[in-house]
Amino acid sequence: MTARGNLFIVSAPSGAGKSSLISGLLKDKPADKQVSVSHTTRQPRPGEVNGQHYHFVSVEEFKALIAENAFFEWAEVFGNYYGTSRKVIEQTLEQGIDVFLDIDWQGAQQVKKVMPEAIGIFILPPSKAELERRLTGRGQDSAEVIAGRMAQAASEISHYDEYDFIIINDDFDTALGDFIAIIRSQRLTGAGQIHTHNDMLNDLLAE
Ligand code: GDP
Ligand code: ADP
Ligand code: 5GP
Repeated sequence: MTARGNLFIVSAPSGAGKSSLISGLLKDKPADKQVSVSHTTRQPRPGEVNGQHYHFVSVEEFKALIAENAFFEWAEVFGNYYGTSRKVIEQTLEQGIDVFLDIDWQGAQQVKKVMPEAIGIFILPPSKAELERRLTGRGQDSAEVIAGRMAQAASEISHYDEYDFIIINDDFDTALGDFIAIIRSQRLTGAGQIHTHNDMLNDLLAE
């Protein structure tokens, strides 16, 4: 019997390493883990593929999706709209697959309200200077966009205590190890194990 998948919310100030940690986790294409591909009105960065990194849509299309109640959560972040599709999340969790949401604190609050069992993980960079170095080093945003994201960093970070887990992304491999440990621990809770190993437990308990 397969237990329902867990829903993980991953938030961080831009540049802290959310996307890198999630890609690290999914590198070997595990069948039981999937990242949710958000809709956004932001312009694609060089190398970003529609349908893979994001579903890139116009403001009009985004507003139509809001009106259809198509979003599990949505928010305006850095002047663009971002949203998570409701249908995909439900269907994927139902198949026993863990789903990862790379979303901001506003979206995280909305998800926790409707699904309190969702597990929140906050990623912190080791320092402000390192955060700025990573945003600049990523080389995908203009100086103006980077300055805007740095200005917003403290406001995003101020929500760290609304999450169940905090990962410091200093050494990448250590942070990835912490991330994997958190995810694995959630598969080992009493409720999850009872559901997954129901038949075995019945056998062990049989007279
Ligand atoms: P992209 O936008 O898909 O190219 O992804 P990122 O820019 O977020 O990261 C590029 C790749 O570098 C990903 O595969 C990450 O796992 C990896 N990566 C990022 N930072 C580090 C690091 O500090 N150490 C190691 N070992 N790998 C890293
Ligand atoms: P986010 O998705 O949170 O905006 P990214 O995953 O794109 O952040 O990371 C921002 C930049 O920092 C990328 O260029 C990435 O390669 C780099 N990076 C991520 N983690 C580390 C780390 N532990 N040490 C050094 N650089 C890192
Ligand atoms: P980026 O433009 O760097 O890809 O993402 C900018 C910010 O938007 C990040 O903080 C990211 O977590 C957030 N974000 C991405 N997708 C969604 C989404 O579907 N919903 C919400 N609420 N935030 C999102």
